[in-house]
Amino acid sequence: MRNIFSLNYREAKSVVKGLGYPEFQADNLFRWLYLKRVKNFDEMTDLPKGFRSFLWKNFKISYPRIIEKFSAPDGTTKYLFELEDRNKVESVLIPEKKHMTFCISSQVGCRMGCKFCATAQSGLARNLKFYEITGQVLSLLERAEGKVNIVFMGMGEPLDNINEVERSIEMINKWMNISLKRITLSTVCLIDGLERILKKFPNIKIAISLNFPEEKDRTKFMPINRKYPISLIIKKLKELPIKRRERVTIEYVLMDRINDSLKDAEKLGKLLRGLRVKINLIPYNENEFLPWKRPSLKQVEAFASFLRKMNYSVFIRFSKGNEIKAACGQLRAKRG
Ligand code: SF4
Repeated sequence: MRNIFSLNYREAKSVVKGLGYPEFQADNLFRWLYLKRVKNFDEMTDLPKGFRSFLWKNFKISYPRIIEKFSAPDGTTKYLFELEDRNKVESVLIPEKKHMTFCISSQVGCRMGCKFCATAQSGLARNLKFYEITGQVLSLLERAEGKVNIVFMGMGEPLDNINEVERSIEMINKWMNISLKRITLSTVCLIDGLERILKKFPNIKIAISLNFPEEKDRTKFMPINRKYPISLIIKKLKELPIKRRERVTIEYVLMDRINDSLKDAEKLGKLLRGLRVKINLIPYNENEFLPWKRPSLKQVEAFASFLRKMNYSVFIRFSKGNEIKAACGQLRAKRG
């Protein structure tokens, strides 16, 4: 039986029309599913009875199944979801001061091959469908209160699965009522995809996973730099239609003795000069799969203050959930 969440809005309207009901019944159905998160067609009281019995016969209401859950003392919780084909993806719920952040996955694995990332080690199994992405959000919404921020920073490179990611953003924004300003897409900077996504969703927030100020180092650790080198990223950042008062986030994972010297900080500062950016420094999260180390706190602070002296807004992001391997670069679901 087909999962009702695999219906996009256009399909839902044509189902409704085919049954002889007015198209607005598709809107009503989506409100029940996405906004009220009702899991039983009988509770959708404003849908005609005939429509409800058609839904019963042909569809199931199915969320991705949570098969494991790990909670850290700071409240960060990682969920392992099993998809219909038994593949698994992870999402992380992070309580912040004034809101909840959902870190969601867009692919099973990833093919970008970043050398410092645990997810990269097993390659790409497949892209997620839009409803497998929205399914993570629906499921986490059941476990959260208050305002929610969504970050595409879990497993996968979202712009490498742009069609389904676009569809999922549309659903999250339109039917779950989450503003685009509360959605951040983090990317190694697949430039064509970035331009496309910003054209479609000008208000979405963008984070560029840069990590190195020099081409040769970025290429060594992030093979995608051969196709989209730093020089091209900077050129595009200058041209992007970023709204006034908005800034692009530059993510920089600090690794001990790899990219954490003050010389690196100086090069980074010079590279970003004139761009409307803020810099997130992410001290590396060590894991058993990879040899890289986290720099000392002293080194992290020295790096940050060097950039601050160059007039950048710099934030040090100690990833939450380190104990449960839910921090950045640590998501690595076992394949089922
Ligand atoms: S850091 Fe992101 S883009 Fe790079 S391999 Fe890991 S998941 Fe993929």
